[in-house]
Amino acid sequence: PSPQDNRRTLEIRIVPYGSHQQLLLARDISELHRLETMRRDFVGNISHELRTPLTVLQGMSEQLADMDDLSADELGRPLALMDQQIERMTRLVDDLLLLSRLETERPTEERGLVNIAEMLADVAEEARALSNGQHRISSTVDESLYVAGDDEELRSAFSNLLSNAVKYTPAGGRIDIRWFEASGAACLAVADTGQGIPAHHIPRLTERFYRVDSGRATRQGGTGLGLAIVKHVLSRHGARLEVNSEMGVGSTFTAVFPIYERLEASSRSVGELGD
Ligand code: ADP
Repeated sequence: PSPQDNRRTLEIRIVPYGSHQQLLLARDISELHRLETMRRDFVGNISHELRTPLTVLQGMSEQLADMDDLSADELGRPLALMDQQIERMTRLVDDLLLLSRLETERPTEERGLVNIAEMLADVAEEARALSNGQHRISSTVDESLYVAGDDEELRSAFSNLLSNAVKYTPAGGRIDIRWFEASGAACLAVADTGQGIPAHHIPRLTERFYRVDSGRATRQGGTGLGLAIVKHVLSRHGARLEVNSEMGVGSTFTAVFPIYERLEASSRSVGELGD
């Protein structure tokens, strides 16, 4: 936190009091002021994030318009670059919509048990596709641990953790997924052998658009909203995110669910028969 966080903002008003006196009224509006600053920063950030791909798209379409008679081959590269920018903008808008839903909508009351082991198998498969054979991705899961919650939300949180591990781990690195029980909680740990995160950045990682190395993060196609989404999803499931990282060694992001259920194989198959 910066020293500014301790400053207070007061709203001062002077009002008549009786016929000859005046009253000085002071109201502490620090919280309102802080929220307003955050809102303004957020809108500024969104505009900037949308502006960048739009500028690239506009530049390229102008260049294309100036060239006549391009062969399909010559058109291939600019069109692929334009596609990349469109994809980036689509991801950003999708993440913004999801985040705004997570912030404004109440969690659904009726939540079924989610088979996390099965979900992790899918999410790991997606990560393998993203890694394109460049990382060794392994997983160890306890199939009897379940969490009551929203399937889609949890999937998107886990997929953000996995795709970050792929994005921020150089080729040849390892990514290890573990779903296990420890100290009265069910834990999902995603460990990578990536570049690591300097300690002073860790408390701010889940802020919207916060990036450690913005050049690298943007090149990786990230929206800067991934960990903000993870944080919201976890808190809607009574869970929290823990981050451990060592420079040059790697990072481990752990989602800790103090509320979970253990269904032994027999009770699970009864459930499946009932379907
Ligand atoms: P982004 O879309 O930029 O990846 P996130 O909110 O998912 O945004 O992550 C915020 C920042 O945290 C990233 O820009 C990156 O600097 C850092 N980060 C996230 N995961 C990792 C990781 N596994 N290893 C190193 N740095 C990471």
